Amino acid sequence: MGNLTRRRFVQNSLLTGGALAVPRGVMASGAATPPRQTRLSQVGYEQVRLLDGPLREQFDRNHAFFLALSEDSLLKPFRQKAGLPAPGEDMGGWYTFYADFSPKGPFHGYIPGHSFGQYLSGLARAYAQTGSKPTQQKVHRLVDGFSKTVTPKFYVDYHLPAYTFDKTCCGLIDAHAFAQDPVAMRALGPATDAVIPFLPGRALNRKEMYARPHKDDAYCWDETYTLPENLFLAYQRSGEARYRAMAKQYIEDESWFAPLSEDQNVLPGQHAYSHLNSLCSAMQSYLNLNDERYLRAARNGFRMIEEQSFATGGWGPNETFVKPGSTTLAESLTKTHASFETPCGAYGHFKITRYLLLETADSRYGDSMERVLYNTILGAKPLEPDGTSFYYSDYNDKAQKSYHEDKWPCCSGTFPQMTADYGISAYMRHGPDVYVNLYVPSELRWRQGGAACAMTQTTEYPASSQSTMVLTLDRPQSFAVLLRIPQWAGPKTRIAVNGRAVDAAVQPGTFASIQRTWKSGDHIELELDMPLRLEPIPYQQAGGQRVALMHGPVALFAVDDLTASVTRAQLLAAERVSRSSADWRVATAAQPLTLRPFAAIGDEHYRLYQTITA
Ligand SMILES: [Zn+2]
Repeated sequence: MGNLTRRRFVQNSLLTGGALAVPRGVMASGAATPPRQTRLSQVGYEQVRLLDGPLREQFDRNHAFFLALSEDSLLKPFRQKAGLPAPGEDMGGWYTFYADFSPKGPFHGYIPGHSFGQYLSGLARAYAQTGSKPTQQKVHRLVDGFSKTVTPKFYVDYHLPAYTFDKTCCGLIDAHAFAQDPVAMRALGPATDAVIPFLPGRALNRKEMYARPHKDDAYCWDETYTLPENLFLAYQRSGEARYRAMAKQYIEDESWFAPLSEDQNVLPGQHAYSHLNSLCSAMQSYLNLNDERYLRAARNGFRMIEEQSFATGGWGPNETFVKPGSTTLAESLTKTHASFETPCGAYGHFKITRYLLLETADSRYGDSMERVLYNTILGAKPLEPDGTSFYYSDYNDKAQKSYHEDKWPCCSGTFPQMTADYGISAYMRHGPDVYVNLYVPSELRWRQGGAACAMTQTTEYPASSQSTMVLTLDRPQSFAVLLRIPQWAGPKTRIAVNGRAVDAAVQPGTFASIQRTWKSGDHIELELDMPLRLEPIPYQQAGGQRVALMHGPVALFAVDDLTASVTRAQLLAAERVSRSSADWRVATAAQPLTLRPFAAIGDEHYRLYQTITA
């Protein structure tokens, strides 16, 4: 950051013609310098098992879907570009190698093989959780197949080399880390050599990309600024210094992290998902370079995104951040159906909130994560075998769920990664202490002082306000269990241990800590007071009356009469239709209005923001 850095960037990128000056084929230089430790520690994929419920169902479905996908089809564009025999069906859509692609659409052949690494990553993370041998074997076969195709020819006339390499890098790291793949990290070396001649020497934003000579517009949409996160992870995994050097080279300081670290809002007009995702690169830069400015950039950038978020937790209508204070967000309710890029956005949102939660132990990042969980990704339509994918959540005043027109888009890659990350997002550790971040049916297992410990969580939250956690311990153990008390929680929130109320400080917006010597069979009951509340759309002009009805983390969408006239008091008096129904009913001067959570919405029209008349 600052002038020195800027000068270095200029030298590297322009004077050397763009190629990155990193020696080829550098071998492992020993152990990596370990990253800075976060305050809380992440649990391993293998430590958490999701139990029956909607999250488990979505995870299982994606796992089975990618386990069944043809390996020849997945490897086909890589084999074609390498001039190797390429049997199997074309995947179609963005994934296919198609020489006559046009950026005007359709997006057939847009970024061949782009999501290969993400499918690999999703499978590797699924293997770590389930121990499914067929999944591990598939990961190994895919890496082996991929490693035989690596050639710089792959990136000739390729629209988004950094984008695809970033995903490939992540997939190979995950195959090694979570599926014990024997060749993945060795394959990453040549895969990195292959892309380097096609990368600019530094991170470029879209304006800079457009300013360079380009064959067509699609060459200007690459996302070099998201590279550092996985490159730092590659350095940590391999110990090879060149990944660290390359990570540093692609940190987008000048127009992005430096101003964000100084609390300047440089979001407006930026591509939404990739820039939220780049905040994860800021976190890895902070952890690896031990430079607090990157933490500030990530925290400030994320806060600025939250300030322009919909009540669902989603952000970036038309994939673009808006100007603070502008009416763009409110206008998007009538102007677009592309309100929030959901699997990608939710995946990035979980990732950055997890980083920030681990670093700061600020429970409000968990509040933000669960809002995105229940109101966006959990309501995503499932992938279809031909690559038909859910892409945008629609918050238009006349909204409807739909699939994207392109097959195998970006969101087909992040979806299996997202659902594989549900488990590790639910719990965090601090020494012997256990933080419960998400209230989801699940089991956490760990060892402590030689004893096997487990916590089993049973809940129908957020449909129900109650969650129960039961401990199973070889022998009594002393530690704290910390429960996230959401910022919106009401005064009747209660915690009980073995049926007796505990006087832990139950403060909304913090973790409530219960420290004691636990014995097997001890159970904790959490009752979250979930008062109904109204949230206005951000930057509403004076006199604006657009509000969303919230029940705890859940946004309630009107589903029958989308033009009903309703008052503030009527919305706040909404009642559940029945204990077994997800629906809520609001009495109005005319017909009663039905409201429904996103995950319960099918093909009916719906509306997020109601217009209140008083
Ligand atoms: Zn996407």
